[in-house]
Amino acid sequence: MNVLKKSIRLNNGVKIPFLALGTWQIDNDTVVQVVKDAYEVGYRHFDSAVDYQNEEGVGRALRELKVARKNIFITTKVPAHIKSFDETKDVINQSLQKLNLNYIDLLLIHAPAPWNEMNPNRKLYFEENVAVWKAMEEFVKIGKVRAIGISNFNKNDIKNILDHCEIRPTVNQIPSFIGYVETETIKFCHDNDILVEAYSPVATGRLLKSNILIEMAKKYGVSVAQLCIRFDYQLGLLPIPKSVHKEYIKENSEIDFIISRKDMEALLKLNQKDLF
Ligand code: NAP
Repeated sequence: MNVLKKSIRLNNGVKIPFLALGTWQIDNDTVVQVVKDAYEVGYRHFDSAVDYQNEEGVGRALRELKVARKNIFITTKVPAHIKSFDETKDVINQSLQKLNLNYIDLLLIHAPAPWNEMNPNRKLYFEENVAVWKAMEEFVKIGKVRAIGISNFNKNDIKNILDHCEIRPTVNQIPSFIGYVETETIKFCHDNDILVEAYSPVATGRLLKSNILIEMAKKYGVSVAQLCIRFDYQLGLLPIPKSVHKEYIKENSEIDFIISRKDMEALLKLNQKDLF
C-alpha cells in the first residue's frame, strides 16, 4: 500500500497522514512551490515550525492550491526558547496568523530546553514546559489546535508532561535514522500511546553516501533515501523526509517494499562511525 494513502488515529482520535514533508531549511519563497509539488505527488501532511521561518509560505501554498482545509494536515512548533504561558499564547496566535489558518492540526513544543542548552547536563525546564503545555491545551479547548505534542523529549521530559497534563501528548517528534535510534524513548512513547515521528530520516542527507547503505539499497532495487525512510516506517515511526526536488519528494513516498528482518537487525546494529 502506498504510504501516502495511509493515515492513523492519534490517541485523541484525530487522523494523521503517515508521511510528512519536512520543510526545515526551505525558505518562505521556495517552500510555496515545494509544498505545491508535494501536494501534487499526494502528500497531505506538512511539517513546519516557527523557527523554520516558512509558515507564511506554507500557508500561501495551501491557499493557492485551493484545497479543502480538512484534507490537509499542518504541523508547527512552539520555539524551544519559549518557556512561559503568555509567550506561548502569543506565539501560537502569530503562527495562526502567518499560516493564515483558522486552526493548526498538530502543535509541538520544539524542544524541552532552548537549543543552546540542549546537552546531557541541561536544566530540565519541567515547570516551564508544563506552563507551555497549559497554554497549548487552551488552544485545543477553543478549537484552534486539534492535537498537541512534543519534540526532542526524552522519557523523563515526557513523564513530567504526563504527570501534569489535562490533555495527553499525541506525538513525540525525534531524530531517527540508520545509525541513530532512540530505542528507549520510542518504547516509552509506544507504551503510552504516543506516536513517534522520525525526523531527519536520511540524517539530513549524510546517509546518502554510505557504501553499506548503497549496497543494501541496490539489493532491494531502491535508493538509499528510500531504504532510510522505509527503515523508520518498519520501526512503526511516521517518517518526515525533506527535499526541495519534486522527483525526490515522489521517490521518498515510494517505500512499498519490505526490508527483511535480518537486514533490519543489521541496520539497527550500525553506528554512525560505520556510516559517515
Ligand atoms: P532529511 O529528510 O533527513 O534529509 C534531507 C536531505 O536529504 C536534503 O539535503 C535533501 O536534498 C536530501 N534528500 C532527500 N531525499 C532525497 C532523495 N530521494 N535523493 C537524494 N537526496 C535526497 O533531513 P532533515 O531536513 O534534517 O529532516 C527532515 C524534516 O524533519 C525537517 O525538514 C523538519 O521538518 C523535521 N526536523 C525536525 C526537527 C525537530 O527538532 N523537531 C529537527 C530536524 C528536522 P534536497 O532538499 O536538495 O533535495
